[in-house]
Amino acid sequence: MRITYICDRCGALIGALSLTEAELHQIGIDILTADLHEDIIKSAETGDLFIYSLCDHCVETTPVNEAEWPYRKEPDVH
Ligand SMILES: [Zn+2]
Repeated sequence: MRITYICDRCGALIGALSLTEAELHQIGIDILTADLHEDIIKSAETGDLFIYSLCDHCVETTPVNEAEWPYRKEPDVH
């Protein structure tokens, strides 16, 4: 299954990878209960998953409630 990460703030493509269902479980995503994460995970008709996160730029420039973003990267300190 192809997983595409998209920035929820600016729409930038963050990255994409292919995972098996078992690997999805390992990172905490259960396709069968994906509606629990509907705010950040969307499934396409093709079966692909889109995960909404924040790109590096938005992480650095947006004072978000960081606890809301389980897939975020640690913000850089400048
Ligand atoms: Zn962004």
